[in-house]
Amino acid sequence: MGSSRPELIIVDDESSVRTTLSLVFTGLGYSVRSASDGFSALALIHDRAPTILLSDLNMPGMSGFELLSIIRRIHPTIHVIATSGAFSGRDVPDGIAADAFYEKASGLSFLFEAVKQGAQSDSMTRKSSARPVPIWMSPTRRVSSDEFYILMGCPRCLRAFPKVVIDQQQLICETECFHCRAPISYAIVPAVDVTPPEASLYEVIDIDGITVPFDASSINRHDPN
Ligand SMILES: [Zn+2]
Repeated sequence: MGSSRPELIIVDDESSVRTTLSLVFTGLGYSVRSASDGFSALALIHDRAPTILLSDLNMPGMSGFELLSIIRRIHPTIHVIATSGAFSGRDVPDGIAADAFYEKASGLSFLFEAVKQGAQSDSMTRKSSARPVPIWMSPTRRVSSDEFYILMGCPRCLRAFPKVVIDQQQLICETECFHCRAPISYAIVPAVDVTPPEASLYEVIDIDGITVPFDASSINRHDPN
C-alpha cells in the first residue's frame, strides 16, 4: 500500500465527462478510476473501496439513485457526491443517499471543494451521521399504463419478493417485507434508455408460489459471449 493519494471513483455514462474529470482530479493529486454505469462502479468498489465516489444520477443499466442507495447500505464510509443536471441548487435532493450534491455545469470550484471535503472528512463521523435512506430500484416490467412489477430485496432478511406497484404520486413509499415483515422504505426510478422490450423476451418465473414476468434480455446483456 504505497500511495497515500485520496482515491476517487467517477461514475458517468458520458465518456467526455469521465475523461475530463479524470484528468482534472488526477492533476489535483487524486488517484482516479472511472465507470460508465452502476454495475461497473460496484465492480470497481469490490476490487478496492475508494475514499470518495462522484456519481451521475441518470444512467443506463443501474441508475445513480439505485447505486448510491446500495453504496450507503454496503459501504457507509465512502464519501458520496451525487451529480446531475436534473436537479438544481446545492442541497442533496430528497431521499438520495449522498453526502453532497453538485449541479452539473454550476461551476467546478464547488465540485473541487466538495471532493476536497470528502477527502478530509472522518469516515466515523460520516457513519454516525448517515440518514436512513430509501432503497432505490428500477421497475422490472411495466404491466399496464399505471402498474409495474418490481423485484424487492429485503435489507433485513435479504430475501427477494415480487411486488406490483401503482404509479405513485409520492416518490418515497413504504411497504413491509413479504417474508419477515420488516418495514421497507423504497423509491422507483427507471434507468435511462428503458425501452419496452419485445414480449417474447420475457419469461415467467416462479418465486415462492408467485409468478413474475422476468426480462430474459437483461441476462443476455451480461453474457460475456
Ligand atoms: Zn425480510
